[in-house]
Amino acid sequence: MRRALTAATAALTLTTAGTMLAGTPGQAAPTGWGRPIVTAAPQPGAAGLGDTYFPDYGNGGYDVEHYDVRLRYDPATDLLTGTTTILATATQDLSAFNLDFLLDVESVRVNGWAATTSTAGAHELVVTPARTVTRGQQLTIVVRYNGIPSETLVGGYTGWTRTDDGALAVNEPESAWWWFPSNDHPLDKATFDISVSVPTGVEVISNGVQPRPPVAEAGNRTRWIWRTTSPTATYLAFMAIGQYDIVTDTTPGGQPVVNAYSTSLGALGPAARASIERTAEIVDWESGIFGPYPFEAQGGVAGPIDGIGFALETQTRPVYGPGFWRRGANTYVVAHENAHQWFGDSVSVAEWRNIWLNEGFASYAEWLWSEEQGEGTAQEVFDFTYASYPADDEFWQVLPGDPGAARVFDNAVYDRGAMTLHQLRLAVGDDAFFEILPAWTSEHRYGNGTIEQFQALAERISGLDLDDLFTTWLFTAGRPDVATAARKAAPPTEPKSWAKIRESHHLLSH
Ligand SMILES: [Zn+2]
Repeated sequence: MRRALTAATAALTLTTAGTMLAGTPGQAAPTGWGRPIVTAAPQPGAAGLGDTYFPDYGNGGYDVEHYDVRLRYDPATDLLTGTTTILATATQDLSAFNLDFLLDVESVRVNGWAATTSTAGAHELVVTPARTVTRGQQLTIVVRYNGIPSETLVGGYTGWTRTDDGALAVNEPESAWWWFPSNDHPLDKATFDISVSVPTGVEVISNGVQPRPPVAEAGNRTRWIWRTTSPTATYLAFMAIGQYDIVTDTTPGGQPVVNAYSTSLGALGPAARASIERTAEIVDWESGIFGPYPFEAQGGVAGPIDGIGFALETQTRPVYGPGFWRRGANTYVVAHENAHQWFGDSVSVAEWRNIWLNEGFASYAEWLWSEEQGEGTAQEVFDFTYASYPADDEFWQVLPGDPGAARVFDNAVYDRGAMTLHQLRLAVGDDAFFEILPAWTSEHRYGNGTIEQFQALAERISGLDLDDLFTTWLFTAGRPDVATAARKAAPPTEPKSWAKIRESHHLLSH
């Protein structure tokens, strides 16, 4: 056991060793020591972090610094066995705490002592340590487990994708439950070591860099080792397991690049390469607009033909479904997923209701990329997008700023979300707009943000009251009016970028 000798734990020791002081449970009582001390008995950590949309996602009472996820996987059976070691700090006195997890748990140890466990709710593992945990105490939580993730269902659903040759642990917001126990909410970011033993000949791609080449293990197996040293939200950790061609390189700026292409893509393979191989170029261009690239590596994974139907901004290395390559190369989805490295990954939602901060911005990055590519200005894409949804279309009934838990990935969050940013740009002018974006990614780097904080920042930089604009575009049902001066008399012509942007959003939203 390591006990953090903080003021809080020292004071608690004094209190519990002496006479119990009067006080309401959970409240601090004044003391002669000049600092409040907690007199309440240790309580269980909360089963959630208070997310408005997903109240039981994440858990209270501790904060994770690092996950060491050590797995063994067999594509033939989809059997996943593993040990995850969680390094955390207690943020309150704890009689018990929860992890979000679904597979079968063999054992849990907390600081070396065997803990008892039970399950609760849809995805809660309740851990009762052998000894009470005190606030500020450092915790080493070791969970041993096994299961078949594709057959482990919640409400008939698994976030795990089993494929012919392996699996994809890629989903949002629910992904971790099927492969590592966690505090599953973007409010609690951590670093990751992820290693996976697979039959030799199978590839494993994950976040960050490979600190060591794959290691041969007994039984004709190989262990793949990945590490990410930047704070990572749990849903942005991933694994792609299967038959992949891996292409490694270094960017002109010195960053390691790891790209991987499923060998199942067949005729779609060249389009995937012609898109993902431009990642470093696109990230460099985005860095000029959004601020310094926040992470230690880059890349992309072209998933298998029988894998996911979407793409996800998994940190340092987005994963793309095969659908994006059906019309040939698609750099718009690459611009979208890599824009998320700033908007979503480095600056994450404080609550899932803030999803516009992710999808509106990544979608607007596509409009900016269209302008950069000479395939239609952002204004032209705005005009065409606006005109493509008639005023009575139900599209306009979804509020991008508060779409509801069931519509977090509604198309309105993407298209109306991007329209909102374009209206902000028109209102504040280009100088202020392109100052707001890097200020946002700088001020909230590796942290979280809310729409209200973004509006405040935009108002601070522009000197304008933007309440009407945000209320109208993000929080009011119905198609907002736009100034007729900004509208063309004739119906807008279709920008060259439109087909791919629309197709990308069709695949990304649902
Ligand atoms: Zn997105």
